[in-house]
Amino acid sequence: MTVYASFQFYQFYAELNAFLVPSNRQRPVFRACPKGASLKHMIKVFGIPHTEVDLILANEVSAGFEHPIRSGDLISVYPYFGMRNVSPLLMIPFRPLRGDRFIADLHLGRLAAQLRMLGFDVLHDNHYPDREIAGISAEENRIVLSRDRNRLIHKKIERGCFIHAISPDEQVLEIMNRLDLSQNIRPFTCCLRCNGLLHDVDACSVTNRVPQRSRQYYSRPLECSNCRNIYGGLAYDSDARTSNSDHCNSRERNLPISR
Ligand SMILES: [Zn+2]
Repeated sequence: MTVYASFQFYQFYAELNAFLVPSNRQRPVFRACPKGASLKHMIKVFGIPHTEVDLILANEVSAGFEHPIRSGDLISVYPYFGMRNVSPLLMIPFRPLRGDRFIADLHLGRLAAQLRMLGFDVLHDNHYPDREIAGISAEENRIVLSRDRNRLIHKKIERGCFIHAISPDEQVLEIMNRLDLSQNIRPFTCCLRCNGLLHDVDACSVTNRVPQRSRQYYSRPLECSNCRNIYGGLAYDSDARTSNSDHCNSRERNLPISR
């Protein structure tokens, strides 16, 4: 039987309200706290992934996830602040969230392809179990991209982004804005199929590997260091569309990632 030790008011701001049941949005919510529970636990009780929280105030004072909870506390929880620097206020580890290497969730294949078009290092695989995603994220310092809040609530995932937008174009903008990635774009550097690095290759040496009808687009071809796929100019865009539908749903983890 759960033993409740205290009661607090919780208020969640901005995008965090999207995770709440309608009756709890945009207002303080009175909630009982089990004995020994942390702030991190209580935030998860509301269905909010800890990865989406940038700032907690306990009675208007910055608090970390393990801050001791007392009866009558007013807990205010905020999402990421974008370009506004609130780092002096932050008590939560691993903040602010920065990085341009990712591991994308099952349903984000098109987003993965679009990020690769911009030159970002994105792993994507239909068969990653939660535990493997958490492990890869930690070992390779990758940010988990997901539209599954329960995946991000996984206690071993420390760096993640819940993707609110539905369309891939809007998803890219959401990530670019949240992580301030505009300076990190490196187009034509990343294989859309396997996430390998692209390098220049002599056009004459790859002529027989390019369909005759497309050779006009391959005056300055690029070759993937991993899968040897050839890209060139407009053909890169064409392959991106193909990749969105055909390749991003393939198993990619077996391919070596030359990063
Ligand atoms: Zn490749």
